[in-house]
Amino acid sequence: MEVVSLQVPALIQGQVDLHCHTTASDGTLAPEALVARAHERGVGLLSITEHDTLASWSEACAAADHWGVALVPGIELSCQWRGATVHVLGYDFDVMSPVIQAAVARQQDNRWQRAHEIAARLQKARLPELLEAACRHSGGDVPGRPHFARAMVEMGVVSSEAAAFRSYLGNGKPGDVKAFWPSLEEVVAWIVESGGVAMIAHPRKYDMTATRLRELIAAFRACGGAGIEVLTGGQSVGDTGFLVELARRWALPVTIGSDFHTPGQAWGELGRLPPLPEGLHQAWLQFQRIRHPQRAS
Ligand code: AMP
Ligand code: FE
Ligand code: FE
Ligand code: ZN
Repeated sequence: MEVVSLQVPALIQGQVDLHCHTTASDGTLAPEALVARAHERGVGLLSITEHDTLASWSEACAAADHWGVALVPGIELSCQWRGATVHVLGYDFDVMSPVIQAAVARQQDNRWQRAHEIAARLQKARLPELLEAACRHSGGDVPGRPHFARAMVEMGVVSSEAAAFRSYLGNGKPGDVKAFWPSLEEVVAWIVESGGVAMIAHPRKYDMTATRLRELIAAFRACGGAGIEVLTGGQSVGDTGFLVELARRWALPVTIGSDFHTPGQAWGELGRLPPLPEGLHQAWLQFQRIRHPQRAS
């Protein structure tokens, strides 16, 4: 893999989208189709941030060359902080770093253990055996909660994925198993030690008061985390205002991303984000490992 460092921010043309998922985690588009869609929607700088895996990276690189999209390494790591599950985005790390490779292997192991525990707990909650169907929905990779949700819809246990989260998989429900996630400090260290930058994903999506969220960001910064994702798909104007104000006051680097998972979802279309307010430090302007498309000529 050839890595070209970014000298001039002007090299980034078009929309920036630094958060999305493919079939390698819980998205529904294959990496090739996702990159094609990013190109169609005017995305010039893309990061695919799978949950706890780098499995789509090679395929994404090939597609990014084909479509002329600049790509930066990304990942969304699950961790826990004071009993809450928090998603930490890693960017611009060395994909081949032994640290990130070991981290991903460990998270996959954690996810398999968690999948078995989720299935067992749902059975205790009088649902049918779901692991096999969930694995089918994840294409044989480790199933996450969305794959369990799809299995429940398929079996007619619930009417929609949203209902599955509401009744069985959401925060505090039987299928919400946090026990296997590493600490915030550990996942930040994995990203930093592999040369990357850590950001808190969709900070307003956690079930936390504003005070608690400020404490999370302070703890994150104290262990080497950089900043926050200020724009995410479907975020309210009020939540964006809160995050922008905080980023300005604390001089936090920021990133932006749709959190696109599937075409046709009400929020989170790839490349579709409101304009970024002024006075923010855009973390991607400092990225060193942006992979510019390599055209055969
Ligand atoms: P996991 O990493 O397996 O715990 O799954 C987390 C994923 O579930 C998130 O990235 C979302 O894609 C999805 N998710 C979380 N909450 C909901 C919800 N209320 N409705 C639908 N999908 C959700
Ligand atoms: Fe997801
Ligand atoms: Fe997330
Ligand atoms: Zn995500």
